[in-house]
This record gives sequence, C-alpha cells and structure tokens, in this order.
Amino acid sequence: MRLLTFSTSANPSPRLGALGGGRVVDVAAASSGRLPGTMLALIQQGDDVQRRVREVVDERGGDLGVSHAPDEISWHAPIPRPLKNVFCLGLNYVAHARESARMRGKEVQIPKVPVIFTKAPTAVTGPYDDVPVDWSVTSQVDWEVELGVVVGKPGRNIDRRRALDHVFGYTVINDLSARDLQNQHLQWFKGKSLDYFCPMGPVVVTGDELGDPQARRLRLRVNGVTKQDSSTADMIFPVDSIVEWLSKGLTLEPGDVIATGTPEGVGMGREPQEFLKDGDVVETEIDGIGTLKNRVVTRP
Ligand code: MG
Repeated sequence: MRLLTFSTSANPSPRLGALGGGRVVDVAAASSGRLPGTMLALIQQGDDVQRRVREVVDERGGDLGVSHAPDEISWHAPIPRPLKNVFCLGLNYVAHARESARMRGKEVQIPKVPVIFTKAPTAVTGPYDDVPVDWSVTSQVDWEVELGVVVGKPGRNIDRRRALDHVFGYTVINDLSARDLQNQHLQWFKGKSLDYFCPMGPVVVTGDELGDPQARRLRLRVNGVTKQDSSTADMIFPVDSIVEWLSKGLTLEPGDVIATGTPEGVGMGREPQEFLKDGDVVETEIDGIGTLKNRVVTRP
C-alpha cells in the first residue's frame, strides 16, 4: 500500500489516505468511519486492520464520492507529529563519512556501532511545504536525502533476522541541517531540529510493497542540479542492523520514525562549500517511494 496524510479545502483536518486506482481514497470515509482516520492509528491497530484498509481501497479506489485526485489535495507529512523525536543515523555511508571527516579536518573513522542522534518532532513538515529559515539563526543550511523507516510492531532487543518484521513501511526524509549550529553546539540536536527542518513523505510505502530496502536509488537536486545520487546498498548499517542496534534496551513503538543516514554529496562536503539560500528548490527522491519538493524561503 501507498499511504499518505492529506486534507482538502472542504475538510481541512488532516486524515489518512491510500492511493488506489490513481486516486487518493479517504480511508475513514470509504469505510463509513469503521477504519482508522490517521496514519498513527492505522499503524498502531496492526495487521488485521491494515488488511481491511487494503480491501476497502481495492473496492472503492474508483469511487469518486470517497476519493480525490492527487493534485486536488493538500499533502501533509505522513506522520505530521511523531510521538517522539525522529531517530537519526549519522555517518552511515562510507563516502559521506569521508567527506565529513575531510571538512572537519579529522581522520576518517568508519563507525563500528551506529552514530545515533535525534531531531525534534516539531521539525517535521510536509512533502511540498516551503521551508522557512530564520537567517539570523543560521547561514549554513544543508541538505541530506535519507530513507525513512516507520516502525510497525513494537519491540525491544529485536534480533536482526526478524528486524524487518517490525518495520511498517518506508518514506523519504530530507534531514535538513544547520551546520553552523551543529558545530557551535557540539551535539547535533539543535542544528538538526529547527522548525521545518524535517520534510517527510510524500507517502509511506508498506514493507511488502517496497521490497528490499537496500536496493533503492536515492537522489537530491537543488534547483534541478543533482547533488546526491547513490544507493541504499551503500549503507554501513542496513535497516535490519539499525533496528537491532537501536532497540537494544530501548523499546521501539509503532509510528516511530528512523532516518537512516545520508550518502555523499552534501553541501558542507563540497569545495567550495554550498548552502541553501532563499528561493532554492530542493527535490529529495527515492525510487519506489517518491519525491519531496520544498522551497527555501525567508522566515518572517
Ligand atoms: Mg542525516
């Protein structure tokens, strides 16, 4: 299934949609309110409910009364406000670890355990939303295309061999980063957590539909110019390993979001360095999921 969170001008409250027959099916409306109205509720209610959603979407995909054309809706982040911080992997691609070390004048160290930090849930924004930036706070806004993992089944100390059973689906994340704040504050949290710094979407593709998460091409363009073009095959810690490491002594819950790290090609790693400015348009794309398109604007 390809799932999203949307609203319409007639009904501005964000709700669960599913793509079917080229249209966005309003899941709650199509089931007369029997099925969940939000992405989080759908994930939390488990396999049986998810199967019924699939049936309703198959049945009513062409029903104009309970579905909308994709270009008629407002798209929100699939999980507009995660229940906790977005978990993030740092330095999870060798070539990116190299460029990061070079820029900081440090020796390259390939992590032996995952580097984990988080982004505030208030940073999450929609797949086509503007990203307002307060330039008095940062002048070094950088891009990072990342495969996002949405946790389905809860678990702690999850074995790697069963880790993908705990994954609900996958999405696209741009882990926007204020490099000057990252450097000033030493811990990355502040520079990763400014408002609007986590564009996400446009859909969550369920694990059964996406297939192997380590065989996806991921790309990022700024004003149409390709800056990142790599494959999730190059992750140092693949998704199953990330879930195993992260869940050690820490319970993962339905709806938790994990950003799995970015490949090479970020602005900080370029010579000369490049950062985003007012009016830039960033397209963040993963094959089989979709493309985010966000314009950087000046925050009033
Ligand atoms: Mg990142």
